[in-house]
Amino acid sequence: MSSILIIEDDQSIRQGLARFLAGEGHSVESLSSGMEGVQRATEGGLDVVILDLGLPDIDGGQALKMIRSISAVPVIVATARDEEGEIVRILRDGADDYVVKPFSGAQLQARIEAIMRRVESGTIRGPMIVGELTVDVEQRVATLDGTPLDLTRKEFDFLSYLADRVGVVVSKRELLAEVWRQPYGGADKTVDVHLSVLRRKLGESAAEPHYLQTVHGVGIKLVKPDS
Ligand code: CA
Repeated sequence: MSSILIIEDDQSIRQGLARFLAGEGHSVESLSSGMEGVQRATEGGLDVVILDLGLPDIDGGQALKMIRSISAVPVIVATARDEEGEIVRILRDGADDYVVKPFSGAQLQARIEAIMRRVESGTIRGPMIVGELTVDVEQRVATLDGTPLDLTRKEFDFLSYLADRVGVVVSKRELLAEVWRQPYGGADKTVDVHLSVLRRKLGESAAEPHYLQTVHGVGIKLVKPDS
């Protein structure tokens, strides 16, 4: 059973889908307004969002971007025939799958099952949350207090490697090998330099660490502040 949100302005489609998916054992919520849908999608607690592209209040593509800026929840986009040209753009903007109207409840159910299998196998993964810090590996976005951090590729890899091991001290040697692919780097300052920049971007310093704690002679760990 999955928690599903349907964002669809056409009442008969919305009600028909809701009834079908509830009949398949899912917990279903449905909304007809794009803005309300985006709001609900970003509140969390959902497994899949079904998003109609043709909404009266906001463009479905815009709604997708808004959801994606905050949440990694899988999104299946429902398009009309004449919107098919937009599919490539929609997938690039972060949709996980799409269906072309008219589609059957059975087809949608199969696509939901496929997405849930990918979620369970770890091919799709949700964001990691540590205190006010969120690291979304799927979307490659890290936010602090809801504000996206401007990180380079390596800074993001560094942060997500630590976020995946919260509270665990990771050695510089391991970081060099796993993040920088330099298995033999010994006296290298790469980690220290990136740590310093990352700390500045997280609003902390070596003297007053917050998320990034150095354990001298051992390595670095990411922690939830004040824990
Ligand atoms: Ca519509």
